[in-house]
Amino acid sequence: QSIGLAIVGLGGYALNQIMPRIAEADHCHLAAVVSGNAEKAATVAAAYGLPEDAIYSYDSYEEIAGDDRIDAVYVILPTGLHTEFVLKAFTAGKHVICEKPMALTSAECEDMIAAGKAADRKLMIGYRCHFEPYNLKAMELMREEALGPLRVIRTAHHYRSGPSTPATNWRHNRALAGGGPLEDYGLYGIQAGLYLSGEMPVRISASTQQPANDPRFAEIFAHTASQMIFPSGATSQHSTSYDGAGANMVTVRGQTGFLTMEPATGYGGHEMMLRKGRSTETLTPGNPSIQFAAMLDHFGLSVMEGTEILTPGEMGLRDTRLIEAIYRSAETGRTMALNPDATMTEG
Ligand code: NAD
Repeated sequence: QSIGLAIVGLGGYALNQIMPRIAEADHCHLAAVVSGNAEKAATVAAAYGLPEDAIYSYDSYEEIAGDDRIDAVYVILPTGLHTEFVLKAFTAGKHVICEKPMALTSAECEDMIAAGKAADRKLMIGYRCHFEPYNLKAMELMREEALGPLRVIRTAHHYRSGPSTPATNWRHNRALAGGGPLEDYGLYGIQAGLYLSGEMPVRISASTQQPANDPRFAEIFAHTASQMIFPSGATSQHSTSYDGAGANMVTVRGQTGFLTMEPATGYGGHEMMLRKGRSTETLTPGNPSIQFAAMLDHFGLSVMEGTEILTPGEMGLRDTRLIEAIYRSAETGRTMALNPDATMTEG
């Protein structure tokens, strides 16, 4: 049993990662594509054996309401467009997976959650690491306190972006990408800090860097560093940038052990090492590339069986609130105190 998915947005992530893996999932199948580029949509539809009437444009998107082949949409558009396309999907009576980051403001996330509830439809955020064997193993080790009580988590998510500008690449455009690398790449580190500690931060401090005279950073930040303080006293430190030598790393230091994951949160090629005293163990808990199909299967089953989503809109809202607190701290130079729901105790 499987649900029909309409893919909204035929960019790099949709074409190179998600669409080729839908066939690996048992509980989702491709039912339609939605694209602003008719020629590309026709080529992609033909490659996946979709009939012509399963191709929608952004203008005809709302007509999916009358298409029973489509149970759910998967929104894989630039982040600033997520809200509009998610809200329209709920109006059309469809369930939704929305790519991360959920949206650029917590108010938009709240609107999406409310619309999903009103339509009685599921809303999942495409946080694939929650379905990836290395990260699942790391969560298990943390739950078992395999490193002893947690002391510090450190994450680094960096790459150097090409000579693009806000006009040529949406990732450099504030209206579509927010502050930039944090929402796009650093979010994996923030997420790891939360799912490995199992805690919510009580305080957050951060700084951002936006070099002058670099067209890449006319609208967005080049670099963001942040630190979350947990109720246990453990800390989680995160750096991310579009102007640093490539890094995709998560390390966890407990009182008695040390876990390294590098690369930690990518599509594949994960490596994980557990060090305790003088012993070092290399862990290979599974094939990372099953994360895509596992995520899609979780969504399909949740839709069909009405079960809870592991990475729901509420998680996207939580993370968007944390990002807001990070930018607020960087802007004011103050440490932001947080409520348990990740809202700031003061503006
Ligand atoms: P991309 O630039 O490769 O593709 C974006 C698509 O949106 C293109 O097909 C483009 O034509 C279309 N589009 C529609 N309106 C647009 C507009 N106004 N400006 C620019 N493009 C427009 O981007 P991507 O890497 O596929 O990212 C899409 C979403 O997926 C983002 O939210 C991103 O954060 C997310 N993503 C998630 C992962 C992950 O591992 N979970 C990886 C990459 C991207």
